[in-house]
Amino acid sequence: MLRPYPNIYDRTPFMTPTNLQAAVEQWVNEHADEVVQLTEALMRYESLQHVPTGWEKDAQVFVAETLRGLNLELDIFEPSEVEGLTEHQAYWPGRDYSNRPNVVAIWRGENLQSSKSLMFSSHIDVVAAVEGGRFPAFSPVRQGEKLYGRGSNDMKGGLAASIMAVRCLQELGIVLQGDVYVESVVDEEMGGSNGTLASRLRGHNATACIVPEPTGMVVAPAHRGGGMWDIIITGQPGMPFGAEALINPVYGIGHLIVAIEKWEQARNERTQTHPLYAHAPGLPVLVCRVEAGDFVPGTGNSVPTSALIEVWAEVYPGTTQDDITNDFIGYIKQVAADVPIIQKCEMDIFPVIRFLPGSEIPTDSPIIQTVNRHFEQVKQQAPEVRGAPFACDVYMFNLYTDTPCVLLGPRGANAHAIDEWVMMDDLVALTKIFALTAADWCNQPK
Ligand SMILES: [Zn+2]
Repeated sequence: MLRPYPNIYDRTPFMTPTNLQAAVEQWVNEHADEVVQLTEALMRYESLQHVPTGWEKDAQVFVAETLRGLNLELDIFEPSEVEGLTEHQAYWPGRDYSNRPNVVAIWRGENLQSSKSLMFSSHIDVVAAVEGGRFPAFSPVRQGEKLYGRGSNDMKGGLAASIMAVRCLQELGIVLQGDVYVESVVDEEMGGSNGTLASRLRGHNATACIVPEPTGMVVAPAHRGGGMWDIIITGQPGMPFGAEALINPVYGIGHLIVAIEKWEQARNERTQTHPLYAHAPGLPVLVCRVEAGDFVPGTGNSVPTSALIEVWAEVYPGTTQDDITNDFIGYIKQVAADVPIIQKCEMDIFPVIRFLPGSEIPTDSPIIQTVNRHFEQVKQQAPEVRGAPFACDVYMFNLYTDTPCVLLGPRGANAHAIDEWVMMDDLVALTKIFALTAADWCNQPK
């Protein structure tokens, strides 16, 4: 006869699902300000991604100390130490990982052989501050319901919520059967992804994973991907003092900008909307940078040597690097062949970052169902379930490991812009949802 599976309620007999929820709600409400304070503490570290390097170390030391205080088993390592990383097909070369440790904390369950385990995976790196905001980038400011500053939304608030969820369960004396992991990885922004890959190759693989990237409190079984390219056109520079024939590459770039705008529209007309993106059809193409001019402004004028545009084109889960390259770059080359001024120039196209695939898991996956259940418990309404409109590291789980990964993070805005903010109440609600999800999931048999 099978021994009945020991669950959380057998081990802590005073706990029923109802009073576990009540206990979690009460604990988190009493510690709500600490959830925000932890987010603020993380935000004060300028854990900048600065390809090929990054300044995540001080923030990671703080994360490690915080997790050590919870009596978790810690694994702290630089991605480059991990065996097999550089040989892996998803490894992207050219980064320097010295002084950039990943931090993985493990709360060991009592019965890990036969129980499910859960990973909370966040990245600690942030993009640089942008000039001109109302609020400072690295000195968090609370105003009304919002917390302003770099990393509040993307994604130190989510990381703080996952850490506080573990603390909540521990302080309530909950005993889990399976392991809970909290990881804080380096090098996510600008398509790094090697930090997330390194943790997987290191062996930190749970039965399911939650990534608290800012989904706006939407449960996201999918995320988009994308590719980024620089297109550089080189002409004949100078001033026509001797009536030389100059070739201005800026005109060539102008043609391409108009063509890209048309391509964006045409692609959206011919592409079938992914069912998880029915709420906002269309895939964005962003011209992120336009550059030309050989002189510092005010010091000279001429037809510039070259002109550049940087373009980011998003894709749905399932689109491969070859698909988007043939489609988009194929189109750019065709346009270039038809435009006389570009024909007179040299054109170079190269990817700025790795191609970031989108990925998805079935909407009826057990982890989605479990998260949905506890979202509803806490928020008193079923969550919206749809695709996340951004690229992130989640594909490393969904495409390269057996760990299904779902995104659930706070509402907020201005990620990668001035005055980034997060909704503080959401961080509190997420702490509850994460705690209840971990308590449930890690007491389910495998
Ligand atoms: Zn992020």
